[in-house]
Amino acid sequence: MVDVLIVGAGPAGVSAALTASARGLSTLWFGSRSLSEKLERAELVRNYPGLPDVSGRDMRDAFLRQVDELGIEILEQRVASIYPLGSSFAACAGTDYFEGRALILATGVHAARSLPGEQELLGHGVSCCATCDGELYRGKRIAIVCEDPSLEDEVAFLADLAETVALFTPFECETPLPGRVERFLGTPTAIVGNGRVEGVEFDGGLMPFDGVFCLRKSVSPQALLQGLETIDGHIVVDRSQRTSIAGCFAAGDCTGRPYQFAKAVGEGNVAAHSAAEYLKSAR
Ligand SMILES: Cc1cc2nc3c(=O)[nH]c(=O)nc-3n(C[C@H](O)[C@H](O)[C@H](O)COP(=O)(O)OP(=O)(O)OC[C@H]3O[C@@H](n4cnc5c(N)ncnc54)[C@H](O)[C@@H]3O)c2cc1C
Repeated sequence: MVDVLIVGAGPAGVSAALTASARGLSTLWFGSRSLSEKLERAELVRNYPGLPDVSGRDMRDAFLRQVDELGIEILEQRVASIYPLGSSFAACAGTDYFEGRALILATGVHAARSLPGEQELLGHGVSCCATCDGELYRGKRIAIVCEDPSLEDEVAFLADLAETVALFTPFECETPLPGRVERFLGTPTAIVGNGRVEGVEFDGGLMPFDGVFCLRKSVSPQALLQGLETIDGHIVVDRSQRTSIAGCFAAGDCTGRPYQFAKAVGEGNVAAHSAAEYLKSAR
């Protein structure tokens, strides 16, 4: 159990982690040492104070140097799901659960498009987390929509549990899988069901399933933490970066426009201060 779980290692997550460390909070910080694809892609940043005409890569290296010098560790894991447990949160990453008293979401913009029916049936047969929900489908018929080759491990995990598996990938899947896994190149056009998953539409027909796993590199805020209030895919926050769930704060692009480094860094700082205040008042 740590004080704060921080999800996302872009500029907002970096800023939150630095401030949490300065406030003496214990943290588990999930992301990657490459920090953010956006940092990689920004050719020249001209509006970040103190670093005129810096490239995104140089900015990334400077961020990384700073967290390394302070000994702040980044857990190179994708968080697939988070559960509020009353006075704490449990984050599921890989095959493990991690618990923190407060939570900061700094996940950036969720770019992937959901399938029609996916958000409505989330938690009613649709899941984004193999580890969290796989056991519910032991011996059942499932569809897996896997949009990123780096998630093939999760496919293999589910393939060992389910009775039959239809795997839909927009790429040729190389992973050796049990014979009962039927592979389809492409993605279903919709997930169908009336209050509960009944199947997926693919190639003009309806294929029946008990459950559908949608495995993507980035997870929508609502799928990551059910019950989180969002508008147009952005997490709703107040000026203290508080979300609709007590103890959960959000910062950066995930809270809305403008999508800017300085905003992300400022919000990450406020989120960590607010988390510290929350933890003090909860004691
Ligand atoms: C080409 C380009 C140029 C830009 N130029 C400028 C500029 O000149 N000036 C400016 O101010 N802004 C610029 N921006 C915008 C800037 O990059 C963003 O506003 C900033 O990166 C937002 O930071 P963030 O931390 O909120 O999100 P991100 O940078 O998107 O970082 C979020 C991180 O969280 C990770 N993550 C998400 N979900 C999970 C999960 N479930 N588990 C673990 N990790 C997760 C993501 O993989 C990502 O690495 C530019 C953007 C682009 C694409």
